[in-house]
Amino acid sequence: MSGNGSKRVWVCLICGYVHHGPEPPEECPVCGADRSDFEAQAETVPAAPVAATAPPKRWKCLVCGYIHEGDGPPEECPVCGADSDQFELINDGPAPVAAQGKSVRVVIVGGGIAGVSAAEAARQSSANAEITLVAGETELPYYRLNLTRYLAGEIGDEALPIHPEAWYGENRIGLLRGAEAVSVSVGDSAVVLGDGTRLSYDRLIIACGAHAFIPPVPGTALPGAGALRTVADAKRILAALRPGMACVCIGGGILGLETAGALAKRGARVTVLEGGGWLLQRQLNEAAGRVLERYVGAAGIGVQFNAKTEAITGSEGVEAVRLADGTVIPAGLVVIATGVRPNTELAAAAGITVNLGTVVNACLATSAPDIFAAGDVAEHGGTLYGLWDPARHQGAIAGMNAAGVVTEFGGIPRANTLKVLGVGLFSGGMVQAADDGVVEVAEERDGGYCRFLFQDGRMAGAIFVGDTKLAAAATKAVKTGMNFPAAPGVPPTVDTVKEWLGGAAD
Ligand SMILES: Cc1cc2nc3c(=O)[nH]c(=O)nc-3n(C[C@H](O)[C@H](O)[C@H](O)COP(=O)(O)OP(=O)(O)OC[C@H]3O[C@@H](n4cnc5c(N)ncnc54)[C@H](O)[C@@H]3O)c2cc1C
Repeated sequence: MSGNGSKRVWVCLICGYVHHGPEPPEECPVCGADRSDFEAQAETVPAAPVAATAPPKRWKCLVCGYIHEGDGPPEECPVCGADSDQFELINDGPAPVAAQGKSVRVVIVGGGIAGVSAAEAARQSSANAEITLVAGETELPYYRLNLTRYLAGEIGDEALPIHPEAWYGENRIGLLRGAEAVSVSVGDSAVVLGDGTRLSYDRLIIACGAHAFIPPVPGTALPGAGALRTVADAKRILAALRPGMACVCIGGGILGLETAGALAKRGARVTVLEGGGWLLQRQLNEAAGRVLERYVGAAGIGVQFNAKTEAITGSEGVEAVRLADGTVIPAGLVVIATGVRPNTELAAAAGITVNLGTVVNACLATSAPDIFAAGDVAEHGGTLYGLWDPARHQGAIAGMNAAGVVTEFGGIPRANTLKVLGVGLFSGGMVQAADDGVVEVAEERDGGYCRFLFQDGRMAGAIFVGDTKLAAAATKAVKTGMNFPAAPGVPPTVDTVKEWLGGAAD
C-alpha cells in the first residue's frame, strides 16, 4: 500500500491483469472477472529482470532521420551533426502510435491462442489498427488443448478451430496461414517470412509458443515415433494406429496420461513409461499416486515405473522401446510426452533477451523496442506457464499494449485443480512432509483419496483425488496458513478437517 493509502495495486487472480487505483475495478477489462477476484498486492508489480524492463526511448533527428536510443537525445547527431534540441522523442513506452490516432501496424507471429487473443484484443483496443497474424500452421488457429480429445475421437475436425474463417475477415485481421516468420529486423521494424515477404510493423508480438522436448535417445526419428503438439501430429498418430496395437507413451505427466487414455479409447494396448516411482510426483504424494494409478489401470493402461528409456528400436519403423534395465517393450507407436520448450529462436536471433523463454516485463514488452511476447514463448517474472489460460490472458494484454492501451500483467496463480482421465485432482501447498513436525491426516475412501498436512497447527498442504469440491476452501486455507481449531489433545481427522473447511468456504 502507498504511504497515503490512496494508490494501490490490484491483480486479477484469474488473468493477472494489473489495476492501479484505490479500489479494484468493478469488472476486469481483460477477462470479465468481478471485483472480488482482485487481490491487493504490494505497491509495485514484481519487476522483470533488468534486461526486459521498458524498451529504451527513441529519439529521431528532425534533420536527417537518424534514430538514437537512450534516456535522452545525443549531444550531437552522429550522422548530420545537428544539436540535441533537433531531436524528437518518438516513443516512450507502448502507447504513442494509436494514441496519436494513426493506424498502428500490429504484426503477430504465431497463430496459437496467445496470437489469436492478441489479435482480438488489439482489434478491440483500436478500430483502425492494421493487424496481421502470421500463423505457421496451415489449419485455422485451433484449440490445441483439445488435441487429446480429438485423438480419442471425442470431437471431430469441426470442433477444433477457435474461430471460423469468416471471423478474421469480419475483424479485419489478415490471417496468413502456413506462413513462417524466419527473422525479425529490429532496426528496420520488419518481419521476414519464409517466402521473402517483408512485413513492416509498428508493434510486433511474438507468440511462437513451444515445441515438444524430444529426449536425446536413439530412434526418436523412426516412423511411428513422435510427440503430440499439433493437429498434424494427431493425424499422423491416427493414421498409424491399428486396433489392438501396442503403444508406448514416454512420460507419465498429465499430457502423457491423457494421450495414453486417448489411445486406449481407440482400442490400443498402452504402456506408460514413468521415470519416477509413482504418477504425477510433482503434484501427488505416493499414496495419492497409487489411487490415481488404479484409475489409469481401469482405463486399460499399464504403467512401468522407474523406467529410463535407452532407445526406441526398429528398422523401417518403430518396433519396441528398450529400457536401461534391459526390458524391451514391443510397440508399433511411441508417443513422447517429456515436456515442452519455448520457441525462442526467432527472438534470440533478433538479439532479444532470452533466458528459458523470451523475457518480458509487466507490459509483456521484450528487451527490444516495440516488440512484445506472450504465451508459451514468454518468460514473465521467471515463470514459464506452458498453459492455455495464461497464454490466452497474456496474448490479450500484449494485444492491448501493442494497440496503445497500456496494460500490465502481474502473474497468475498456477492452476492446481486438474482432471486427468476424467478423475478430479487437487494439489495445493506442500506435497511431501517437510519435516517431522508436520502432522498428516489422510484417508482413502470410496475409491478416492484425501490428505491434509499441518505445520504448527496451520494447514500447509492438501491433496484430493476424486472429489475436489473442497479445493477452493483448501486453496484459501493453505495460502493463508489457516489455523485448524483443534481441541487440546484431540487430533484432527479427515472428517473434522473437511467439516471445518466446508464451514470456512461458506
Ligand atoms: C495435446 C495438448 C494438450 C494440452 N492440454 C492442456 C490443458 O488441458 N490445459 C492447459 O492449460 N494447457 C494444455 N496444453 C498446453 C496449451 O495448449 C498451451 O499452453 C497453449 O497452446 C500455448 O499457446 P501459445 O499460443 O502460447 O502457443 P502455441 O499453442 O504453441 O502456438 C504457437 C503457434 O505459433 C506458431 N509458430 C511458431 N513459430 C512460428 C514462426 N516463426 N512463424 C509463424 N508461426 C510460428 C506455431 O506453429 C503455433 O501454431 C496442451 C497442449 C497440448 C499439446
